[in-house]
Amino acid sequence: MQNTKSSTSLTTALDQTLASFAQARTQTTLELTCREVGTVTFLGNSIARVVGLPNVRSQEQVKFADGSIGLAFNLDPNEVGVVLLNNHTDIKAGSQVQRTGRVLDTSVGESLLGRVVTALGTPLDQGGPLPLLERRPIERPAPTIMERAPVRVPLQTGIKVIDALVPIGRGQRQLIVGDRQTGKTAIALDTILNQKKHNVICIYCAIGQRSDAVAQLIATLRHEGAMDHCIVVVASGEETPALQYITPYTATAMAEYFMDKGRDVLIVYDDLIHHARAYRELSLLLRRPPGREAFPGDIFYLHSRLLERSTCLRSDLGGGSLTALPIVETEAGNLSAYIPTNLVSITDGQIYLTPTLFQKGVLPAVDVGRSVSRVGGKAQLSAYRAVAGDLRLMYSQFQELESFARFGTRLDESTQQSLVRGRRIRAVLRQDQQHPLTVSQQIALLLAANIGLLDEVPLAKIPDIEALLCRTVEQQLPDVCQRIVLGEKLSNEDCQALLEIARQSLHLVSG
Ligand code: ATP
Ligand code: MG
Repeated sequence: MQNTKSSTSLTTALDQTLASFAQARTQTTLELTCREVGTVTFLGNSIARVVGLPNVRSQEQVKFADGSIGLAFNLDPNEVGVVLLNNHTDIKAGSQVQRTGRVLDTSVGESLLGRVVTALGTPLDQGGPLPLLERRPIERPAPTIMERAPVRVPLQTGIKVIDALVPIGRGQRQLIVGDRQTGKTAIALDTILNQKKHNVICIYCAIGQRSDAVAQLIATLRHEGAMDHCIVVVASGEETPALQYITPYTATAMAEYFMDKGRDVLIVYDDLIHHARAYRELSLLLRRPPGREAFPGDIFYLHSRLLERSTCLRSDLGGGSLTALPIVETEAGNLSAYIPTNLVSITDGQIYLTPTLFQKGVLPAVDVGRSVSRVGGKAQLSAYRAVAGDLRLMYSQFQELESFARFGTRLDESTQQSLVRGRRIRAVLRQDQQHPLTVSQQIALLLAANIGLLDEVPLAKIPDIEALLCRTVEQQLPDVCQRIVLGEKLSNEDCQALLEIARQSLHLVSG
């Protein structure tokens, strides 16, 4: 009896399985897909030549048999030049390569904030794996002219000499250019740190930098509590040139995600000379003809299509902005070298740092005469513009006068007076690293120097006066500070009140 029961249940189970198989068979449609598979014919340092991919497109991702990724870079009639993104691969001549039909893309999203990632989106910090995020191609066309709005809102760096003399607006592209060890990264880092109060998301993109220098920068960001609004994208000098080449594009795609959501974003490319060198290395390995200064001719397009993506969007498109601070290193102050001149012509201005000023201890070592901001002036707060208006001209004249005065020429009284004033202004514009000043503090200080309040003060005492003034101005004049931040003009009474604080600080220090 029991035997009959169990055999019946077995038959039903078998019937059900057969029925589900039959259903699956009817629902399954078999399709023939055609995959293009090529073969590696030559493997060099960071590049491979491949045959058998006749339909592959420029910049398409290709996948090797060991899972590593390459980018189709050179499309020749008989073969394809592929650049390799991974450092350690098992590829050999004869290995198989597959087309993927996709361009390179990257993860973008809020979860990247506070993280350190590679150009391929792999986390490099201890924060664990990233959640599943939206993916975007690393390159996209720059916004059209009609989609852009004029630069109107200032991006406060907190660095006096920049905010006063070469102001930067949100959506601007401002080049930081200078020789080795002149404080280029320091300016970018201070600007990032100052954005904590201004609700600007910052992306620091390190290309070809030493790993220890990047680690130190990340440690500073963490220590100052600025990492929450930052993403660090790193391709250090040890990575393949292809990875270094794609890094700024990846970082820009991450930045655009926030810009499209109406946020203000700052991106620092540190530095583009390494980017250009990585591209030159790839191009020469792929036997592209070198041109001026041994760089391939299309290198201008490389940086222009990157920096064109930084802009300020129209308010009906969200009103987001992407400000770019590309950094470029010069050799022996040669600003007219190929890559720096390219970048000078692409960007909206440059901050030029000189080793001469750095050695003299005038820090930040900004050469005011050779630095310019072509659009930032319009974005400067009106109170600031009123104070800093004549400062630039006066300061440049002082620098010229000073070089004459060195010849021991006899000078008339007014020239001597200009020299005294100029030296005070130079002392006021000096600033230590990681000591950002608010707009009100800067205005109070420059106002005092401008009207000659500090002319009688010994230069050594100026830092003390500055420290005291900065401590008191926001405590004692919160209303004036508020008006300055809101972009209102300063009334005569406001100016007098600010000057009064400066006088008090001066008396206390001179004691
Ligand atoms: P590299 O060419 O190696 O990238 P760099 O131009 O980025 O160098 P930094 O690394 O920013 O230069 O700065 C060089 C040195 O100058 C650092 O030791 C930094 O601490 C110091 N420095 C930069 N700016 C200032 C400043 N305003 N006050 C004091 N020290 C500064
Ligand atoms: Mg640097």
